[in-house]
Amino acid sequence: MVLRVAYILSFLLLLYSCNKKRTIQNNADLEENPKSQILSKTSLVVLGTVQDAGYPQIGCSQKCCINQWDLQQKRCVTSLGLIEPVTNSSFLFEATPDIKLQTKKLSDYIGHDTIEMPNGIFLTHGHIGHYSGLMQLGREAINAKSVPVYAMPKLKSYLENNGPWSQLVEINNIIINPLENKIQISLSENLKVEPFLVPHRAEFTETVGYKIVGPNKTGLFIPDIDKWQKWDTSIEDEIKKVDFAFLDATFYKNGEVGNRDMSEIPHPFVEESVERFKSLEASEKAKIYFIHFNHTNPLIRTKSNEQIELTKLGFNIAEEGLVIEL
Ligand SMILES: [Zn+2]
Ligand SMILES: [Zn+2]
Ligand SMILES: [Zn+2]
Repeated sequence: MVLRVAYILSFLLLLYSCNKKRTIQNNADLEENPKSQILSKTSLVVLGTVQDAGYPQIGCSQKCCINQWDLQQKRCVTSLGLIEPVTNSSFLFEATPDIKLQTKKLSDYIGHDTIEMPNGIFLTHGHIGHYSGLMQLGREAINAKSVPVYAMPKLKSYLENNGPWSQLVEINNIIINPLENKIQISLSENLKVEPFLVPHRAEFTETVGYKIVGPNKTGLFIPDIDKWQKWDTSIEDEIKKVDFAFLDATFYKNGEVGNRDMSEIPHPFVEESVERFKSLEASEKAKIYFIHFNHTNPLIRTKSNEQIELTKLGFNIAEEGLVIEL
């Protein structure tokens, strides 16, 4: 009997110490990174905001990057995370070169004690900032087990037929789920994702944006598009249908990448988008979050004149750590 009581007591003590350890660990996390928090509602989180090549950018000793090389305040490549506490699951938009940090953050948001791979990764297209992070799921890294990756047909075929990506498929590090234009994927009863094609230089693959439909709010994610007028859909109409929209803000204005021909790398300049959206109601402007900043875009720098100006006009600038409850 005494033995039994002692056993129960030690079991309770063990339980208490485990919980205590977890709480302390979480508090320590919070102290180190005040943006890290466990989310209890279906939410979208911003895990990165910069263009494919990161910030600072390789070879850049210009004003934009010269003070960024100590990498103390590392900025991640554009990515969104989805947290669904109802099913204790998480999803990642884009497999960026920063996927290592971004899966860690995603795990923190859902409250995992260990770093778990997301329950699904949605890819937009085959440019380096958007899919190359898949390499971290392979044998040289975590050797992941059957992580679901969602991709449109050309991107799916590209991954299946070109190394090193094909090996991820062959040894089941990833399972590619095919997407179809404007066909919704259901992630839980109250969470759906819908891809839609957008025009964007298609050297290897097509490009999609995503509509993310939560229990109460719906959002758009269009990190890369050539020009708004090249799309057979009105971006203003699409903004009206949703509650928030993360939109391509790669370049601020024409001529900002030195002597490179910017017609080879078309994007809606922020100046063009602002001009186009200036007649929208204030409530519509407030839905817009600019994202996917090239190293040359002054919006990448906190409190730059351009950031202040844009905010005054009623638009938002996406920031890492931003959480939107869906
Ligand atoms: Zn990109
Ligand atoms: Zn630079
Ligand atoms: Zn691209």
